[in-house]
Amino acid sequence: MRVTVFNPISHSANKTPTNQGNPATTNSPVAVDGTETTESTDNKIIGIDVHEPVNAVTAEPAKKVFITTQGCQMNEYDSSKMGDVLGDSHGMEVTTNIDEADVLIMNTCSIREKAQEKVFSELGRWRKLKEKNPDLVIGVGGCVASQEGDSIQKRAPYVDMIFGPQTLHRLPELYDESTKQKAVKPKNRIGTVDVSFPSIEKFDFLPEPKVEGYKAFVSIMEGCSKYCSFCVVPYTRGEELSRPLDDVLAEIDSLAEQGVREINLLGQNVNGYRGEKDDGSICRFAELLHYVSYIDGVDRIRYTTSHPLEFTDDIIDAYGKLPQLPSHLHLPVQSGSNNVLAGMKRNHTIDVYINQINKLRAVRPDMHLSGDFIIGFPGETEEDFNETLQLAKDLDFDHSYSFVYSRRPGTPASDLPDDLPLTAKKERLAKFQKVIVDSTKAKTEAMVGQVHRVLVENVGNRFADHLHGTADNTRSVIFPVDASTEERFEAEKQRLMGKFVNIKITEYISSLLVKGELVEVIG
Ligand code: SAM
Repeated sequence: MRVTVFNPISHSANKTPTNQGNPATTNSPVAVDGTETTESTDNKIIGIDVHEPVNAVTAEPAKKVFITTQGCQMNEYDSSKMGDVLGDSHGMEVTTNIDEADVLIMNTCSIREKAQEKVFSELGRWRKLKEKNPDLVIGVGGCVASQEGDSIQKRAPYVDMIFGPQTLHRLPELYDESTKQKAVKPKNRIGTVDVSFPSIEKFDFLPEPKVEGYKAFVSIMEGCSKYCSFCVVPYTRGEELSRPLDDVLAEIDSLAEQGVREINLLGQNVNGYRGEKDDGSICRFAELLHYVSYIDGVDRIRYTTSHPLEFTDDIIDAYGKLPQLPSHLHLPVQSGSNNVLAGMKRNHTIDVYINQINKLRAVRPDMHLSGDFIIGFPGETEEDFNETLQLAKDLDFDHSYSFVYSRRPGTPASDLPDDLPLTAKKERLAKFQKVIVDSTKAKTEAMVGQVHRVLVENVGNRFADHLHGTADNTRSVIFPVDASTEERFEAEKQRLMGKFVNIKITEYISSLLVKGELVEVIG
């Protein structure tokens, strides 16, 4: 198979340059890398059905696209956009049933080796589907695609489209090109590959989606310029680039009009945001938080993820001024040892975090912290590890996304000597996670008797006569409502869903779930 880098045409030129996003399907409010304290990197399926089942243009049955997502919230956001662009251009419908799909897309993550390995094992399964249905179009997007480019097609020649995080808006053209290639003899086919970094143009070509639910992600910047020694992101997503302020606010405005109450601002280092304003001046992150807080309906603003070197005092001040900022913060800590931080090229010492958190807690004494931690970075000694453990205890982290260091080819740390056996690293990780899990439980138990602000989102999963929502500290909360008849339950749903309410917590159910009673509707 010959491969060419796809040359974009103006397929999307007639699209409204709006930037609204679907809420992604995750329930995990701070899943920076899509996984919690275990090493699960299961694919997630974006299953939001945002389009009519019939192609509005051709009146033929709509083609169906099945999208799996690995990794972080940015990937989930991107996957929802892939569904949007194919819906908009080709009337495609997103399906969660792989057997009925005409197009399969894998949105990949290369942050750790395990996720990357899964790409080819999953593609092997997809190959069998394509053997049964040669018309099936298979696409690989995301960071593995960006890193591997056309070598994916060399290893898996049945893959039709390869695109990176910055070129997903060109999917309609890649799809058209792939379907044209079906008519060509296999050995003469040209694979369609576009893993370029065309600045930040994708946002100008994304269609306006219909939102479901009350929470939404909004990407405010792309890429990363920090070049930490362990991390592939700068190589797969490119350098940091911020979206203009007006674009971000227009997207949030539209989401708010559609009923969204909680916005999660996304980026690799959101507090490095430098968005251009209309007058050419630069808006920084703290100012953006203020702007977002003025948008009617948006009463909770979260963000994922920040960088310690950009955590300026004006952001801490915002916590004193903006009730929309919940008392929960996710921090990419990585290690509590200054030696390890230096090896990671984080360019700060642990005191920087300690000072920032102390200042934050002076403004918000009830601040809950979650963090990213890497255990077993090359050269990490027992003493270094104990410092990380101690930091987690001292700063009272109550949730973590912690993983054993994964060697990423092409990153500076991949050349460092690393003689600690994997079993020893895993033992450290288990020890670390036990401390965090105990803290999670203790903090959840302490909620009993307290009143918490909760955004009501849906009906309880296991508790069908309860409504379910999320507290500011990210815990799931269920509470009973009048379900004596279907009509009454329906009326309660109408009254409460999408509202912020105060709930008095009455019962601990599990480490991340509590039960309570409705005290009042805030609005
Ligand atoms: N703003 C974040 C920061 O300051 O580090 C960047 C988020 S990064 C893309 C997501 C998380 O993935 C990191 O915080 C880190 O804990 C984890 N990660 C990245 N590279 C890794 C590696 N090689 N091995 C294990 N975990 C890694």
